[in-house]
Amino acid sequence: MAIERTLSIIKPDATRRNLTGKINAKFEDAGLRIVAQKRIRLTKEQAGKFYAVHAARPFYDELCTFMASEPVVVQVLEGEGAVQKNRQVMGATNPADAAEGTIRAEFAESVGENSVHGSDAPDTAKEEIAFFFSGLELVG
Ligand code: ADP
Ligand code: MG
Repeated sequence: MAIERTLSIIKPDATRRNLTGKINAKFEDAGLRIVAQKRIRLTKEQAGKFYAVHAARPFYDELCTFMASEPVVVQVLEGEGAVQKNRQVMGATNPADAAEGTIRAEFAESVGENSVHGSDAPDTAKEEIAFFFSGLELVG
């Protein structure tokens, strides 16, 4: 399988509870390399732009308010099949459905405040990485 990159976000519920290191350990234990990372505070407008694909969903406003509520850690994860591998490490969107040992099973507070974001396909990963990182910040 090819080496891929995917965009990950450690969400406000997790940064608030000081879980960045524990979550990063899950990525590294799964063989994903954190090749870029920064802690930022999104505005609600920036969060809205990032999650524009969900603009018609009933939870959109709540999601954007949440993502702007505390700092987030945005990161690029690299590895074999990184997009799907990261989705496995994250677990299902709703922590009630997430497999044991996954980030969401262990740390998520609810379906909305679920600790991590991960790209869902290689093409969206490319777009999402470019949303947060310049080429100069991606050193591998
Ligand atoms: P994922 O993050 O697993 O890719 P989605 O792309 O479907 O999930 O949704 C994006 C984010 O929107 C979720 O991670 C979660 O924070 C929020 N969300 C999804 N479904 C709901 C819901 N039913 N109620 C509240 N928030 C939700
Ligand atoms: Mg998604």
